[in-house]
Amino acid sequence: MDEKNIKTIHKLLPVIRVMFSTAGRRYPRFFVLETLKTLVQAAQPFVGILITPLLVDELCGPRNIRTLAAYAAILIVGEYILTLLSERFSMMLQKYQERLDNYFTMQISRHSMGLDFQLTEDKAALDQLEKARTGMTWYSGGAYGIAEQIFMFLGNIFKVAGFVTIITMHAPFLLIVILIYVALSGVVTSRLNKVELESYGRLSKVNRLFGYFGWEIVDFRFGKDIRLYDARRMLVNKWKDYTAESIAGWKWQADRSYPYNLFLAGTEMLGALTTYGYVGILVIRKVLSIGTFTQMISTAMALNATLGGLVWNIQELMKRCNYAYEYVLFMNYPEAIPKGTAHVEKGEHRIEFRNVTFAYPGTDTRVLDGINITIEPGEHLSIVGLNGAGKTTFIKLLCRLYDPTDGEILLDGRNIKEYDYKEYMAQFAPVFQDFKLFGFTIRENIAFEDTDQSRVDELIKLVELDGMAGKLEKGLDTRIFKIFEEDGIEPSGGEQQKLAIARALYKNTPVIILDEPTAALDPVAEYEIYRQFHTLVGDKTAFYISHRLSSCRFCDRIAVFADGKIAEYGSHDELAGIPGGIYAKMFEAQAQYYK
Ligand code: ADP
Repeated sequence: MDEKNIKTIHKLLPVIRVMFSTAGRRYPRFFVLETLKTLVQAAQPFVGILITPLLVDELCGPRNIRTLAAYAAILIVGEYILTLLSERFSMMLQKYQERLDNYFTMQISRHSMGLDFQLTEDKAALDQLEKARTGMTWYSGGAYGIAEQIFMFLGNIFKVAGFVTIITMHAPFLLIVILIYVALSGVVTSRLNKVELESYGRLSKVNRLFGYFGWEIVDFRFGKDIRLYDARRMLVNKWKDYTAESIAGWKWQADRSYPYNLFLAGTEMLGALTTYGYVGILVIRKVLSIGTFTQMISTAMALNATLGGLVWNIQELMKRCNYAYEYVLFMNYPEAIPKGTAHVEKGEHRIEFRNVTFAYPGTDTRVLDGINITIEPGEHLSIVGLNGAGKTTFIKLLCRLYDPTDGEILLDGRNIKEYDYKEYMAQFAPVFQDFKLFGFTIRENIAFEDTDQSRVDELIKLVELDGMAGKLEKGLDTRIFKIFEEDGIEPSGGEQQKLAIARALYKNTPVIILDEPTAALDPVAEYEIYRQFHTLVGDKTAFYISHRLSSCRFCDRIAVFADGKIAEYGSHDELAGIPGGIYAKMFEAQAQYYK
């Protein structure tokens, strides 16, 4: 056995264990039905093989009508009943394909939603997700496809044992002919599988691109940009390119498979010639009766096919497990950041950045360079600076979406890496600039599943969306976007931001963060939102990030970020008083809005 096969074998067990422990526990009926179907299907060929020779010899010899009628009845009725049963079980099993596929697709989705955020921007992790998705569905047939293979394998073993016994009784030499044939076709099929596996690796990237085009870009939130920037031509052309690449991939596979397929057809012909020749001679020499001749030929053919089937089962099983193993790998994808176990104290927190330096994974640029800052419990900090100064990155590190490259972040004096990740994350309610609303109801977008009716109403009023909601026939139960329903609404950019803010407030966390979610509002409206927000946040710790100064008047402290460093730090009055200072200049330029 070559190294590749050994590599595949070690994937077999984990895959089978995962499939059976999850799917088996969830759908035990599936396994009972599979067992019954396998038994019926394995018994099916033996009716003909055992009865037909008796029938033929009776026809060639005594021709007793009652005996003939009895054989014919057993043959026909027996096969009929087994066929009926087999069809019935297959029909009952069909629905499990969908169920199992859905179950594992859901597992993948759940797992990807819980992945460390950092991995969502990591190419290797995204590739692994795609491989898990395709590997667990089309390529392997999923848990259903794998279980089918295993049951088929067991059924085939049962049949082979029966066929070998029958042939050994009359024409044992036939077994050698069959073995040679099966071994040859096994080798060739294994080559074919290698070609297919390589082709799958080559097509994984193209498939991801197809997925992007097929699922993401058709989302009509892209609609405006596609029309206004006339992106259609580019998109269509790119689609054509990927199609060409995909076709080239399939052609590559077909070209490489062709000679192997020719060889397979040749060996099959030789096998049949030898079998007929040998058994024919035995009949001429009167070693076998005509009935046994038909039995040997049909058993040899059945054994051939079943052994071929067995080899195919094994290879198919290895191949499918090989694909499905991508699922196992994905479900065990290493975490991007270490997680601790310490509990986070209830209440407000003291946050400290100590010499924090950060470069995004795979880059050398220090987006943050030696940041030192302490935020006292309940303090409101405004972070300002030009675009690209590192403000959002600062928040990403605080929320542990990434870990610092150097230095440390402390919460209540303890490195944040030591805290239980979920508990730590639960301290923050950030509204990012690129927040996303879901195509669900307004209420669900704010409160998700546990709706506190009066709180949602209060927040809707607070962010001044009560007017808009009042006009809607279904009120807060109106869907956002038209993804699911005709009467879904398309809120304006400003309205979406207000919803996102309401969602953050609803979470009711000790620390709240607004990362320029108001960029689509005019400075005056932004100022208003921040002012109301400020009242609402009360004595919670809050971070306001903006390249405008709307929030600075309300905040205890202002940190001005420039080139990854905190260039200026102090109260509004202190910073506004620095002659030629960054903040002083920004304030001067924007003062008309805030005076
Ligand atoms: P700000 O919020 O002040 O506008 P950011 O923190 O978003 O700035 O970005 C700071 C710098 O980091 C920018 O130069 C930006 O291009 C870069 N950057 C942001 N996100 C990533 C990322 N995921 N990978 C690599 N570079 C990034």
